[in-house]
Amino acid sequence: MDFTESMRNGGSHALATEAVHAGREDLAAMGLHAVPLDLSTTYPSYDSRQEAARIDDFATTGARPDGPPVYARLDNPTVARFETALARLEGTESAVAFASGMAALSACLLVRVAQGLRHVIAVRPLYGCSDHLLDAGLLGTEVTWVDPAGVAEAIRPDTGLVVVESPANPTLRELDLRAIAHSCGTVPLLADNTFATPVLQRPAEQGANVVLHSATKYLGGHGDVLGGVIACDEEFARSLRQVRFATGGVLHPLAGYLLLRGLSTLPVRMRAASATAAELARRLAADPRVERVHYPRLGGAMVAFETHGDPHEVIAGVRLITPAVSLGSVDTLIQHPASISHRIVAEGDRHSNGISDRLLRMSVGLEDVEDLWADLDRALSGRVAGRAPEAASEPERTPVPGGAGR
Ligand SMILES: *Cc1c(COP(=O)(O)O)cnc(C)c1O
Repeated sequence: MDFTESMRNGGSHALATEAVHAGREDLAAMGLHAVPLDLSTTYPSYDSRQEAARIDDFATTGARPDGPPVYARLDNPTVARFETALARLEGTESAVAFASGMAALSACLLVRVAQGLRHVIAVRPLYGCSDHLLDAGLLGTEVTWVDPAGVAEAIRPDTGLVVVESPANPTLRELDLRAIAHSCGTVPLLADNTFATPVLQRPAEQGANVVLHSATKYLGGHGDVLGGVIACDEEFARSLRQVRFATGGVLHPLAGYLLLRGLSTLPVRMRAASATAAELARRLAADPRVERVHYPRLGGAMVAFETHGDPHEVIAGVRLITPAVSLGSVDTLIQHPASISHRIVAEGDRHSNGISDRLLRMSVGLEDVEDLWADLDRALSGRVAGRAPEAASEPERTPVPGGAGR
């Protein structure tokens, strides 16, 4: 993988520079260095005629209000800085942030449903909850699942969105986004770029109109903030802001602050974790205890693999690596998709899309590669080094309602 190649993003600065400066250009003139955190829920105004005009303007256009936001569900200056920076990194006109990745996807679907375009075309695999949201039609959408080659044929007059993920969660299947964008014609293509991040791939450059992130993962990068964001053109952003205002899935300002801070180290974290992941993928592929390894041609910090032995034993055997759902943190996490992240997807749909019962998904962090390999090697051998922190003595975990989790 060639990082320098992917660092340029069309603006005047390289991606690594934008990651540190975008959304903060006005700070020095304000006499500030760190980003101000605005926790206001409301904004005072003695001129209610003018406030009425600003509310009318937002209701008709969905444009960000000039000046104070009236009320925090409408807009927030700290969150807006994160939105500006993410749009710059993805190379889109705008970005709109949400309380989580699922809130972001929901808003995209609601925008189209409100326009009478309730049909969605989607390519599996997708993140488990995205699959569920579409398959269950919770928001009034109707989904047609297709292979990439079947997108053009599946388009109907009421098709509002084509939804794909690449590399996909959890199998790391890669799609030709440019070819799919071509098949979409005038229907917008939504690409979930959570796994690649703009450091490795900018789907908008390949023709995707809507780029989704679970910001909870790499953008935040430290496992301590939940968020979602959509990078898109200003027209779609305006509809998203109106839906966000009406449905309330806003990102908390502190989360916006943490996500903006996370962006500044995103290129460095991605580069370091990807190098380690590539080395672990190489060692796993050469290991007789491992049946198959999935690692994207694009690179990245996610590795999936199938074991010959019981995958639950690997989960039970790790000590340095944390057995937990989610991904994109500074520390390495491993989980069993069939039990956790994709539990909510029907077994048959899991199996027909490569999510076998032996598949493990690992999110590689910033630890030393030799320490990680020693832990994996021990877990694969079923040699248990000491007791697990406490969970080992518990008879059984409480089942998670609805098989939730990332
Ligand atoms: C986690 C995840 C989501 C959902 O994001 P949340 O922030 O958990 O709501 C969506 N897509 C992908 C690829 C994910 O990994």
